[in-house]
Amino acid sequence: MGISANIRRIKEAIPQGVEYVVVSKYRPQEELQEAYDAGMRVFAESRPAELARKAALLPGDIQWHFIGHLQTNKLKLVLPYCALIQSVDSVRLMEAMEKYCAASRLTANILLEVHVAAEQSKQGFTPAETVSFFKNAAYKDFPHLRFCGLMGMATHCDRPERIEADFALMEDLFNGIKDSGSAPSEFRELSIGMSGDYHIAVRHGATMVRIGSATFESNT
Ligand SMILES: *Cc1c(COP(=O)(O)O)cnc(C)c1O
Repeated sequence: MGISANIRRIKEAIPQGVEYVVVSKYRPQEELQEAYDAGMRVFAESRPAELARKAALLPGDIQWHFIGHLQTNKLKLVLPYCALIQSVDSVRLMEAMEKYCAASRLTANILLEVHVAAEQSKQGFTPAETVSFFKNAAYKDFPHLRFCGLMGMATHCDRPERIEADFALMEDLFNGIKDSGSAPSEFRELSIGMSGDYHIAVRHGATMVRIGSATFESNT
């Protein structure tokens, strides 16, 4: 099956109102163009130089998201091109982004990356840190950042119960912060779900799914 058939099938499986973000990292320009021609306009990359290069080559009405670990010395490759940074994983990074955005007169839309998976190596804030960040109104220290929601990844495994539990935790965390009134009004996005688990994510309130391999590869 080709890319456009994959896209059609995935769109059918996702409820209306859930944003389908095409994860295009490591994919060649022609494949992105094919997804674009099939109607997709939101693409996500995980490496700064690759994002900057592709943003220059592909149509200007694409919204680029960043989903990789962002180093503070790479902000200039990412922030001018990005509609949303989904992977803000430390206060230190926020501080560097705030400084960069203030100096460049930009406002950056961001999601906080929350660590819920069992793997030790994953980046991100713990659920407790995320709750305190909003409860203490710490986001007010960053006037050039718009805190649009949360991003998370489930444990990398084949056990649906485990993935289900990780997404349920993300959903509770997101709703808890939103309903507590401690978050700004733009706090609306819950980005959970990838190729292998987006069916589960949409049952747990995903507003955004990030789908790479199922978009571009056959037999996924
Ligand atoms: C690569 C990646 C994805 C997409 O993964 P697939 O399994 O190919 O859909 C989603 N989110 C993040 C953060 C990624 O790094």
